[in-house]
Amino acid sequence: MQKFYVTIPIYYANGKPSVGHAYTTIAADVLARYHRLLGKDVFFLAGLDENSQKNIEAAQAVGKGDDIQGYLDEMAALWERTFDGLGITHNRFIRTTEADHAKAVVKFWKAVEAKGDIYQGEYEGLYCKGCEAFYSEADLVDGKCPLHLTVPAHIKEKNYFFKLTKYRDALLEHIGKHPEFIQPSSRRNEIVSYIEKFMTDTSISRSTMKWGIPVPGDESQRVYVWFDALINYLTGVGYGTDEANFKKWWPANLHLVGKDIIKFHCAIWPAMLMSAGIPLPERVFAHGFFTVDGQKMSKSLGNVVDPVDIATKYSNDVLRFFLMREIRFGEDGDYSSKRLEERYNGDLANELGNLVHRVITMAEKYFDSKVPAKADGFLAGAWPAYQSAMEEVRLYDALEIAWSLVRQSNQFIDEKRPWELAKLKEDKMLSDSIYVLLETLRHIAWMLLPLMPDTAEKIFTKLGLEVSKELGQSQASAWVWGELAPGATLVKGEPLFPRREV
Ligand SMILES: [Zn+2]
Repeated sequence: MQKFYVTIPIYYANGKPSVGHAYTTIAADVLARYHRLLGKDVFFLAGLDENSQKNIEAAQAVGKGDDIQGYLDEMAALWERTFDGLGITHNRFIRTTEADHAKAVVKFWKAVEAKGDIYQGEYEGLYCKGCEAFYSEADLVDGKCPLHLTVPAHIKEKNYFFKLTKYRDALLEHIGKHPEFIQPSSRRNEIVSYIEKFMTDTSISRSTMKWGIPVPGDESQRVYVWFDALINYLTGVGYGTDEANFKKWWPANLHLVGKDIIKFHCAIWPAMLMSAGIPLPERVFAHGFFTVDGQKMSKSLGNVVDPVDIATKYSNDVLRFFLMREIRFGEDGDYSSKRLEERYNGDLANELGNLVHRVITMAEKYFDSKVPAKADGFLAGAWPAYQSAMEEVRLYDALEIAWSLVRQSNQFIDEKRPWELAKLKEDKMLSDSIYVLLETLRHIAWMLLPLMPDTAEKIFTKLGLEVSKELGQSQASAWVWGELAPGATLVKGEPLFPRREV
């Protein structure tokens, strides 16, 4: 059986999930669901980065500085509950304070050490606490961290270093040979330039930290949080604890990341893996950032959007739809509640919801709510286009293909005017038109399954299909035209997306 292993970044536990976290997570969920539909064995890893200094500060800020693990347990429960509530289908929620992760990090460290790639040195440099990363002067904007707009601290300490520069040629060669490794291509160019011009050996331990995984053989140092965090992708599938499982899933097929952390995922991480003698992931895909109403989303600005609020006000599917449709995955975009309301009333209520309602109402009126005899439809190349959009992580395009069928169907109704065919007693034309519309709805529902799973299931029910039976068949047979059986009883039910008054 083919497998698909997809990961998202492990998030800091120092606050509740924002719509930005939901964005990456939902995208991975869409892909996990899509690959499951293809009949693949799928592993979707999500989780929390619990060894970060930021978490300790957050725990102290709420008076839990003496019980950091307790604080992390509470936060992890909150994150998992949120993901579950949003309908995320991750297979494991990893926490980097778990025992198997410590084992994996120790094993990995020792492998890199045995390769001769770790040495002791003195680090002196500029450190942004927010990023938990070192910067060179060249990286700074007006002397400040480009992300946090704060002045980084000057740090001087004894650290262990990883011989990152030893892998410069190997990294460039790999990226050159595998254009799919870093996507989109704009990010690939950025990384190549970083590797060629700026990459230096990197410090992988801290002497000042009290929290985190101790360096094997030197309890006075802790493993630098990024070095430990990246290894979660290995721990999640059994590295160091369950080699059979690890062999089954690794290498990951896809790491989804934000564009701010590509240096870690596309240079440091592959070099770490080369050093440890572990194959590289197939693909790293970096998505863009989005602003909220034109402004950067930040706690300090107080404009952080809570995905649970949107899901509660509308639904999980509306949240998924909006994020995937409004912001092209891979590019930057803007989130706005006004746009959300417009898209709800436009795309969802007027276009999709109205189509489903019209078609089923006509079938009720002219065919006593029964599916009429089969007829040929207009899918054309929709499925191959949808499939390549999904494979290439163009989630916006996948939705657009489903929506083009929605629009074509609405147009088809306006052209055929079934109500006139009924008046003229054009029975065959009327029957053909209604079948084409109903069967097209079934295909639309299949396309929506990974993207808007609840809506897809509601459409199946309206089409008189038993959801478990419909999903029980293989994608190969479900995607064929004419699977909707004549004679089945349609169920009109409630409108999918009732119009909202603005
Ligand atoms: Zn920063």
